[in-house]
Amino acid sequence: MIDLKFYSPEEEVIYEPINKYNVQLYLKRDDLIHPFISGNKWRKLKYNLIKAKNENKKHLVTFGGAYSNHLLATAAAGAKFKFKTTAFVRGDLVENPVLDFCKIFGMELFFVSREDYKDKDKLFNQKFKHSTDFYLINEGGYGMEAELGCREIISELETNYDYIFCAAGTGATAAGLINGKNLYNIMAEINIIATLKGADFLKTEINTLLTGNYEYNLHTNYHFGGYAKTKDDLIGFTKNFIQKTGILIDPVYTAKTLFAIQDLAAQNYFKPFAKILMIHTGGLFGLLGMPEKFR
Ligand SMILES: *Cc1c(COP(=O)(O)O)cnc(C)c1O
Repeated sequence: MIDLKFYSPEEEVIYEPINKYNVQLYLKRDDLIHPFISGNKWRKLKYNLIKAKNENKKHLVTFGGAYSNHLLATAAAGAKFKFKTTAFVRGDLVENPVLDFCKIFGMELFFVSREDYKDKDKLFNQKFKHSTDFYLINEGGYGMEAELGCREIISELETNYDYIFCAAGTGATAAGLINGKNLYNIMAEINIIATLKGADFLKTEINTLLTGNYEYNLHTNYHFGGYAKTKDDLIGFTKNFIQKTGILIDPVYTAKTLFAIQDLAAQNYFKPFAKILMIHTGGLFGLLGMPEKFR
């Protein structure tokens, strides 16, 4: 059975640089779900794992970059739920703590050049054409099963909020929140922060997974130069938030989202006394992707 007992409370966070604009900040602590199957990665894997079990598949195959939280979550979930795991890793052979943990959990890694990585069908067929027991999970876990799992974030909410914020990479989590809002009829306005540069493609990725023509706000100007590129003020913000709240955030996703909340508050984006919920999507290993910035 695919089941994970977890605790993801909604927690008010007192953080003066945001509260001073007359708003209240809450986090849904999906980062506490599991140390490695963290945040939205459990949400996105859950229905994939159930489907794989139902189809009697024994082997999960997926794709990701060298600091992918998705690879790590897949490796840990594979070990826990008794699947063999293999990943195609973008770029030349490297060693880092994320990939080390993937290997510790038993994941098999194939490093492929950025050029070869573009043709995922070809890569997959080279290794797995003749096998029938594999279950393919898209890069970043993107897909219908992922979206379905992310709706559950909304179904668990215990309080009403005016605004909900979440970071987006592939957009599957965003789509789940937007569908969930409409399915469970909650009032909160959904705000999605694109973490990649030129993220207008994201709108298509999100809309593909929506069950209706729903409204949401996509903010595409908080990427700080791109996926894992950061500006010094974002690093400063990340450190300050961690040191003033005791809650770890990662510079790739959650820090950008909180920074956006602060910046929008400064621009009077929110109504007075607004209750703002950020989904803490985990991903704390992202802090290890740029350790020199934090020394
Ligand atoms: C993977 C990840 C995301 C992006 O989720 P998508 O569903 O791909 O948009 C957001 N936050 C964190 C911390 C992540 O690790």
